[in-house]
Amino acid sequence: ADVLTDEQALLAAPGPLKARLSANENPFGPSDKAKQAILESVTSCYQYPMQSKELIQMIADYEGLTPAHILLDAGSSPLLLAAAMHFGQQGAIITGDPSYADLPRKAEKFKSAIVVVPLTADYKLDLDAMEKKVDARTALMYICNPNNPTGTVLDAAKLKAFAARVSQKVPVFVDEAYIDYLPDPRGASLMDAVKQGQNVMVARTFSKLYGFAGLRVGYLVAQPDTIVALSKYAVGPMSISAPAVRAAVVSYQDQPYMQDALKKTLASKQFLYDVLKREGYAYIPSATNFVMFPLKMDGKRFVEEMGKRGVSVRNWEFNNQQWCRVSIGRMDEMQAFATAFTQVS
Ligand code: PLP
Repeated sequence: ADVLTDEQALLAAPGPLKARLSANENPFGPSDKAKQAILESVTSCYQYPMQSKELIQMIADYEGLTPAHILLDAGSSPLLLAAAMHFGQQGAIITGDPSYADLPRKAEKFKSAIVVVPLTADYKLDLDAMEKKVDARTALMYICNPNNPTGTVLDAAKLKAFAARVSQKVPVFVDEAYIDYLPDPRGASLMDAVKQGQNVMVARTFSKLYGFAGLRVGYLVAQPDTIVALSKYAVGPMSISAPAVRAAVVSYQDQPYMQDALKKTLASKQFLYDVLKREGYAYIPSATNFVMFPLKMDGKRFVEEMGKRGVSVRNWEFNNQQWCRVSIGRMDEMQAFATAFTQVS
């Protein structure tokens, strides 16, 4: 079972690090435009962050929705917590195993039962098995797509049909933190389900492709009545600093920046694949900025040995197998990984 959070894993890593590959951050961001916006906004930081209204409107316009469909907060984690509090008090939460454990883990604190459904043989969420688990106790279906930690993505048509059926029985929460890494994020997203009035929530974050993990901007898109219900448990836009909001406004859908960051991510990922192949390791083909591969030694010891060499990575255990998850970093970081990996593996 996955016991550490990404933050705990980073705090546990011995410093100084040559390569920080344990929290699925994007070292190619934020963009130069975002950095410039932060600098320019510093002087007016005595003002409250009212530009959040503009960011909400930009998101609404792009998605063809209204501001009433959008809840903005300091990253998507506070929105996952709001959903955990609201739905966790109502009943059970169905999730994949392994999948991003944050929402279920938080819901457990509100006495929610967590129903974990193993992945399919190709390490994807098992939608058929998850649908079969829906019963009178179910309060929420949590779908992380693409899935963390396996980096796999669901077939878009299959997920859309699943959401259309399941959301008639229980609310469906789709965590799209890594959707921007896909070749066609719009085609893969469940935003249309929200537009069609389905009982579907979509969580998005600027922490990944936009490179805002330390700036903290995220949002949830859902039916207006769901937004009102979840707002009870969220601080909302006032929790985001003005520089972060300004940076998000200039970064949102900045296609040249996004394409550049994607290109660099793909080059580093290909380098990692080549290292793994050369060392005789398999891996799960990844649609994201992290890659999961099966280890040939104890996962905890592997992480410790890599840490001693200045490289932080994460370990998992599932399917009676020890696994490592490597986040995609800059090329110098991937080279540091390769050097340490050759010594440790
Ligand atoms: N959802 C998924 C699937 C994640 O992997 C993460 C962070 O790693 C988050 C949500 C939370 O990110 P943030 O709070 O930075 O938006």
